[in-house]
Amino acid sequence: MRSATQCLAVCAFSTLLWFAPVARAQAIRLHVDLKDAPRNIYHAHMQIPVHAGETDLVFPKWIPGNHRPSGPIGGLTGIRMEAAGRPLAWQRDAVDMYEFHVTVPAGVDVLDVSLDAITTQDSAGGGGPAASDNLLDLNWNAVVLYPKGARSDDVMFAPSVTLPAGWKFGTALPGARAAGEDVEFSPVALTTLVDSPLIAGLHYRRIELSKPGESPQHVMNVVADAEADLAMTPQDVAAYQKLVAETGALFGARHYRQYHFLLTLSDQVGGHGLEHHESNDSVESERALLEPDQHMLYGSLLTHEYTHSWNGKYRRPAGLATPNYQEPMIGDLLWVYEGLTEYLGNVLAARSGLWSEEQYREALAGTAAMLDHRAGRKWRPLEDTARSVQTLRTMGSQWQNWRRGLDYYPEGELIWLEVDTILRQQTHGERSMNDFCRRFHGGESGPKVVLYTFDDVVRTLNEVAPYDWSTLLRERVGTPSTHAPLGGIEHGGWKLVYNDKPNQFTQAVEKLAKFADFAYSLGFAAGEDGKLDDVIAGSPAYEAGLGPAMKVIAVNGRKWSPEILHAAVKAAQSANQPIELLVENAQFFKTYSIAYYEGEKNPHLERVAGQPDILGEIVRPLSH
Ligand SMILES: [Zn+2]
Repeated sequence: MRSATQCLAVCAFSTLLWFAPVARAQAIRLHVDLKDAPRNIYHAHMQIPVHAGETDLVFPKWIPGNHRPSGPIGGLTGIRMEAAGRPLAWQRDAVDMYEFHVTVPAGVDVLDVSLDAITTQDSAGGGGPAASDNLLDLNWNAVVLYPKGARSDDVMFAPSVTLPAGWKFGTALPGARAAGEDVEFSPVALTTLVDSPLIAGLHYRRIELSKPGESPQHVMNVVADAEADLAMTPQDVAAYQKLVAETGALFGARHYRQYHFLLTLSDQVGGHGLEHHESNDSVESERALLEPDQHMLYGSLLTHEYTHSWNGKYRRPAGLATPNYQEPMIGDLLWVYEGLTEYLGNVLAARSGLWSEEQYREALAGTAAMLDHRAGRKWRPLEDTARSVQTLRTMGSQWQNWRRGLDYYPEGELIWLEVDTILRQQTHGERSMNDFCRRFHGGESGPKVVLYTFDDVVRTLNEVAPYDWSTLLRERVGTPSTHAPLGGIEHGGWKLVYNDKPNQFTQAVEKLAKFADFAYSLGFAAGEDGKLDDVIAGSPAYEAGLGPAMKVIAVNGRKWSPEILHAAVKAAQSANQPIELLVENAQFFKTYSIAYYEGEKNPHLERVAGQPDILGEIVRPLSH
């Protein structure tokens, strides 16, 4: 094992050449029978070239994009190993659950391995199943074993699948040759295989985002639980075409041979968005293309995942670029990997027309308010949330404001907005993050990985505009603070305000997820049944003694409902009387009195008179 400092020293000065022509061993043949997908079990068979003697095989553990040991080992079943038709005894390693030992007899050069992946837990890291009655998502890391110690760039796989009858598929894997339900692909390195998921479904639509003959080609592949869900509007198709043009104008280069959006529309499978070099594998709810609230809430999912092709896949933090899937990843720079992607993804949603300017600002206001009420920022620096991704990703929402969540995403957005506005101020509007992106993510087109460190980020910022970026960024990510970094909004000519008008995004989530949000007034969100989700430390509800998982039964003596509590918050403003909540806490009932008289508080951005609208300039399209 290598320590963090060793890895940074070794990796930072090397460039992984993704498609480097290295001498490779004979390909492992891999066939995945997907006909049982509706039952959430995939059957795989591998023919692995081997030498006689002790052989160690491993199952991918650290999954790119998940940044944590999320390889779905619990779903790995039905393992059978055979040589020349005779079963071989295998053993799992006593310490590393992802490693298997087998002795290959003399004279045998191919090991047959069969296994089944139970996919009731999505292997893309989104929870929920990977397949439904009508569609599936195949992440190849769930169906492969490979030789221990090998670099994933050096292990070749010749993959093929059998699909359920009548299903069509989308993937960035090259060289597809279909015969009925059987599809064979060209041999690829394990790195490319794991980076190229496949979606398939009974209801499938392919939308060309590039003009005929244009290179590289961009394709939108959509699968859904019902045919009617696939009806992407001509306006949306035009917006995604605009998105492609906007990324070209922003980055100035493309690091893929072709790009596939793999979009699943379903309420039955795990919700996720997972980035890849030449594709993204994203799930939205079944009616996301058709219903306005859902359309708005998902408006920046594909723009975010697509941005990762440049920020995350082409340029990658040194600690996240590991030689294979067994080496631990170091997440310290996720505030760049995810935070800058969050910033650019939201800006691109507005530039491409998937969001209006007002929707962009409403989303930003919600993010800023949430982070400005994160009590845990007083003890936990942002960088620690990135380093802790493997523990924070799976924690629930209870006490999240005190523990902090994966805050490097939203707070990264605020930090990069601040950086963008400082670049514009320092250069009197001549330069911006657009220039940073062209330098950092542009360069020569073509698929490869170029590593970076904190110092590389600072150096590139200084090339765009000299400033003490190192001090600013170290302070933003490395030290606890009482307030969120709102400098970008303020330099942008806007300020964060609270009033009784609902925030568009919060209101849409309240309707869809059926909960009531009182975060910035009383200090909590509650489910339809009155159960408190999180209680913000230091808020009026917290001071009254309330905590997560307690259940509100009655408000001022009347049975709980979100409407009753909203009315009580308004009434308290003029009556100047505390709100009395009857609360159930695991079989025990008690009344809590909340002394709060300031009415409803929903976050919005408001223009600062006399200041230029830099935010408006930032979301202006670059392409024509
Ligand atoms: Zn991301």
